[in-house]
Amino acid sequence: MFPIDKIRADFPILNRKVHGKPLVYFDNGATSQTPQAVIDAIVDYYSNYNANIHRGVHTLSQEATDKYEEARIKIQKHFNAKKAYEIILTAGTTESVNIVASGFSSLLKKGDEVIVSALEHHSNIVPWQMMCEKNGAVLRVIPMDDKGALQMNVFDDLLNENTKIVFCNHVSNALGTINPIEEIIEKAHKVGAYVLIDGAQACPHIKPDVQALDVDFYVASAHKICGPTGVGLLYGKEELLQLLPPYQGGGEMIETVTFEKTTYAGLPHKFEAGTPNICGGIAFGAAIDYMNNIGFDAIATQENELLAYGTEKLQEIDGLRIYGTAKKTAVISFNIEGIHPYDIGSILDKLGIAVRTGHHCAQPIMDFYKIPGTVRASFAFYNTKEEIDVLVAGVKKAKMMLS
Ligand SMILES: *Cc1c(COP(=O)(O)O)cnc(C)c1O
Repeated sequence: MFPIDKIRADFPILNRKVHGKPLVYFDNGATSQTPQAVIDAIVDYYSNYNANIHRGVHTLSQEATDKYEEARIKIQKHFNAKKAYEIILTAGTTESVNIVASGFSSLLKKGDEVIVSALEHHSNIVPWQMMCEKNGAVLRVIPMDDKGALQMNVFDDLLNENTKIVFCNHVSNALGTINPIEEIIEKAHKVGAYVLIDGAQACPHIKPDVQALDVDFYVASAHKICGPTGVGLLYGKEELLQLLPPYQGGGEMIETVTFEKTTYAGLPHKFEAGTPNICGGIAFGAAIDYMNNIGFDAIATQENELLAYGTEKLQEIDGLRIYGTAKKTAVISFNIEGIHPYDIGSILDKLGIAVRTGHHCAQPIMDFYKIPGTVRASFAFYNTKEEIDVLVAGVKKAKMMLS
């Protein structure tokens, strides 16, 4: 049995009320809630050993440095990277993608080709568009189908010897589709292209093994895995991180500086200019411990049950359409015929239910379905079927009020 009551007790926020109603939090795809263990790690840092890292000889600085590097090792082990210095701690997925895109910007030339998927988050489209505008590389797109899956036969046709990089999310944030990244990586490597996988939406549900995947770059954000905002990771194979130029100049990322020439520090410091999010990194490590203590198999079982139950109950509502029916994580993106998603979301909020409405930073997907957006309910392991019943009743009420 999944210890749901015990787990819910780990999250203080789940006790609060919104508009006088118990909070039903179904916006986990935007950010997850924070367990007490992670809150404690943050309080402990600021209460007991707040100091800058890698600089001082004093005790606090040593303690902070040790904890920060311990967190890096936790993250390394979780993702099964070969080396701890292949884990770059960043501000999050967006910054991680930008580090790679801007690095490749100077390595690509006119006529080179870059492939992205139609299911991307804007953070994985815009940096590559900016890069292609700069160096004349061509951006190609793997189209999606009606179920919200990628058309892999078209991917085969897009790949050629000019393809240099392929970017794809592991799981789509708008629809929850789990993409066939193993196949994408293998096929891209056959033509000599590198692959960056955006794991922001996968990591709350799946424990990725970067060595088994043989992926070149893998990125994610802590705040979607029960960690704090403003911190995330860039995993890169050592030889590729060596190849990429640094992203920002500043303290911490240099070895020696004179006005004639600066030599860069080794990995991971080359990509960690300035004072990092020290507390955030340490709390990211605590979040990884928390998730692994529950276990990703148990998380998947619980979430799949919620997905099946929610899908069944919502589908009983007349005029309700669910977008994205391919193999997916616990996300239900839907609309009710003739009603704007925003109006449904506003009524749900009055009932204490938090969902996301809009294009979910994935406008090309909305264009594909010719809709302005969807209502997205995204579940986490700490959600319950009773909460889904509250959602279903809320959607029925919204439908009655709005039609
Ligand atoms: C949330 C998300 C991002 C952006 O993450 P940030 O933490 O805002 O940088 C990128 N890609 C996907 C798939 C996401 O779900």
